[in-house]
Amino acid sequence: MIRILPEPPIWKAAIAFDFDDTLVLKSGGGSLNSHFFDCIQWVRGSYGVAWGIATGRSLYQLIEGFNEASFPVLPDFVVAREREIYFPGQFGRWVPHDSWNQRCERDHERLFRKSKRVFAKVRKFIEAKTAARWVSVEGDAAGIVASSEGEMDEIQSFIEGLARQANLSFERNSIYLRFSHRSYNKGSGLVEAAERWGITPEHILAVGDNFNDLSMLQPEVSAACGCPANAVDPVKEFIRQRGGKVAGKPGAEGVVEVLGHYFAP
Ligand SMILES: [Mg+2]
Repeated sequence: MIRILPEPPIWKAAIAFDFDDTLVLKSGGGSLNSHFFDCIQWVRGSYGVAWGIATGRSLYQLIEGFNEASFPVLPDFVVAREREIYFPGQFGRWVPHDSWNQRCERDHERLFRKSKRVFAKVRKFIEAKTAARWVSVEGDAAGIVASSEGEMDEIQSFIEGLARQANLSFERNSIYLRFSHRSYNKGSGLVEAAERWGITPEHILAVGDNFNDLSMLQPEVSAACGCPANAVDPVKEFIRQRGGKVAGKPGAEGVVEVLGHYFAP
């Protein structure tokens, strides 16, 4: 049974972790070192830190991940699909942040309607020139799964070279790419979620490993940042340049290192 933690008397900071390959390693079979939970519960209780997961997974896929990794407690917030916000409610139900999620959905519908031609071009390109797949499902109208990182590099440069709607952006996570509205990403979702406790970017720490984490690793979103040792090079480089913490260990062990860097026991 996953517990919901009681709220600390004052909320002073927020931390967002990416899920896949930041907390849970592909190579680790979905499990997570329990030391992470000791650390995060200590940080939460001692410093009044709200912690959450910002992920490319849908909420449903993330809940599966929590179960696989035997999460003993639920996070204080979730940013799913790199843009939807949820808070834990009673009886283990997740409560959507309605005003944000509804505006997000409307903005995406409108933008994607206007972007049909651009999507058709991208689709034609990947079907003719690559082994990648175009993915269009409910709630996720426009995405690509490539067969390799190199292939996704190629697709990414093709997309970057296209004339497209000013608001049309995308989030890339290794071989996955999801089109999105420029105003919605892990970064803007994190800032909005932290607002719930009146926490501003000077008191936010973000930790991630891949391209789709870069939006929350920006200084205007998180004053503090870090990544595990397995992060992709551009993310490591970005964090180093910002003066953040690049951990020496991969996955959750690296995340614990990042926590130790910012929160002294
Ligand atoms: Mg990741």
